[in-house]
Amino acid sequence: MIRLTVLGCCGSYAAPGGACSGYLVQGGGKNLWLDAGPGTLANLQRHIDLDDLDGILLTHAHPDHWVDLLPFHNVVRYIRKRSGLPVWSTKRVLELTQEVNGKLTDAVDWTVINARSNVELGGLRLSFSRTDHGPETLAVRVDEAGGPSLGYTADTGPAWPLSNLGPGLDAALVEASMPVEAEGSVQHLSGRQAGRAATEAGVGRLLLTHIQPGVDPERQVADARGEFAGPVEAVETNATYEI
Ligand SMILES: [Zn+2]
Ligand SMILES: [Zn+2]
Repeated sequence: MIRLTVLGCCGSYAAPGGACSGYLVQGGGKNLWLDAGPGTLANLQRHIDLDDLDGILLTHAHPDHWVDLLPFHNVVRYIRKRSGLPVWSTKRVLELTQEVNGKLTDAVDWTVINARSNVELGGLRLSFSRTDHGPETLAVRVDEAGGPSLGYTADTGPAWPLSNLGPGLDAALVEASMPVEAEGSVQHLSGRQAGRAATEAGVGRLLLTHIQPGVDPERQVADARGEFAGPVEAVETNATYEI
């Protein structure tokens, strides 16, 4: 079983009391912090001890997906010291981290990944696909050995098919940033487009995320249900979903 805990799910910026994109993925005996948007470091500590974190994966260089890595880097190099914590990210996220925090220490073991990479973390296997989004952005497929599969779009426009993550996704965490009226204006998805993507990819369950402040989650769910016959819900911060 994979346990997906939402550390933040606001799109682009956080609503009052909210946090941007970040998830705790627990499976295969490991704890993975998937995207580290602002506010997610605080919420991560509601769910696990920071010493129990086994790896961090950052999908792209937009600040709503990674900047809590900067204070966390200071946690592991100065305050709760450890060494060799695996971090995987696109090249640009590493460059930006070094610009702000300076030289990396052995607190982290950083690997630059791309769409062809494969990552193993305990019983979790991670694979990737480049999405339809401005900077290099990696959608993620998480397979637990002998268990379920979870897909995560990160950020994408409609030109990238969710099926590029492969068949048989038990659940997909799909961005639904904007209302239908905004389709085509930016490289993001509406609820309707998220539903279509889920149908085309044949996923078992659709979890909507990255809904921008001011956009009604219930409307995003209703628009997605118009295109996808399976279960749909908009995720909530600090809720856990068993897959
Ligand atoms: Zn975003
Ligand atoms: Zn983005």
